[in-house]
Amino acid sequence: MTLTPELKNLVDALQHEKIICLLAPSFAVDFTYPDIILDIKKIGVEKVVELTYAAKLINGEYEKTLKENPDKRYICPNCPTIVKMIGIKYPELKENIINIASPMVIMDRFVKSEYWSEYKTLFAGPCLMKKMEAKEYGINYAITFKELQNIFDYYKENNIAPKQFTYSMAEDGTPEFDDFFNTSTKIYPLAWGVAQSLHTKGIIDKDQILVVDGPKNLDAGFQEFKNNKNIRFLDILACEWWCIGGPWIICKESLDARKKKVLDYKEYSKKHKDASKVGKIKYSEWLDTSRSPQH
Ligand code: SF4
Repeated sequence: MTLTPELKNLVDALQHEKIICLLAPSFAVDFTYPDIILDIKKIGVEKVVELTYAAKLINGEYEKTLKENPDKRYICPNCPTIVKMIGIKYPELKENIINIASPMVIMDRFVKSEYWSEYKTLFAGPCLMKKMEAKEYGINYAITFKELQNIFDYYKENNIAPKQFTYSMAEDGTPEFDDFFNTSTKIYPLAWGVAQSLHTKGIIDKDQILVVDGPKNLDAGFQEFKNNKNIRFLDILACEWWCIGGPWIICKESLDARKKKVLDYKEYSKKHKDASKVGKIKYSEWLDTSRSPQH
């Protein structure tokens, strides 16, 4: 296994920097839980957190924004490909992009500003475009799941001994993510995941939400949003079935099989007694959730 210069640089950093991994919730498609937590720690990462807590904060902000601005219409900016596409092809829709950053950005701000300010962050997910977003928002390292697997393979092939590490444990001794996380937003990487995890009652009707996914449907989705003024929230995703259909997912199984893996993981987590680690909104009421880069 030969590593790219970018991955060599990361492997070097892992030997002497304090790093937190921000793991995208679609990890369940490519890796086994809870083994993935230990596998990531073995390469030198000190803490591993899910993005699900940030997704929960984001949902709260979406609900508040939709409620306080009943005459406004919004586009969800979680997919960087979509944000780019709007800038190039639909600049007239820029003002509809809701001013709330993506889960990766929010989680990065959260862990750095209050809890673990001395750490650097490593995002791992299914998306190449997230590297661009990571650079814009000051996330220190961003790799795809494929690249994460390459690093695992590299360590194995070169007999690199794991650094000493500690890990959080559930009551039954099972390794678990470091604080903080949320269960309901574990479906975020699925099409309809955002809409289904929002509390919409009294805020927005279901028929005011439009979900569009996959490259073939994007233009029609934007046109529908422009023409149908009843739609107040457009969740539009560049990949089919959103991130589980991303080109940098390793898994070659059908989209249905991938979706099942995410839902199975959510069920597993619901049964798992790790409630003490669930993130509450009050832990981060002070956090800047806007899309403005802070550096
Ligand atoms: S939908 Fe595709 S392009 Fe958009 S964030 Fe997910 S993996 Fe990346």
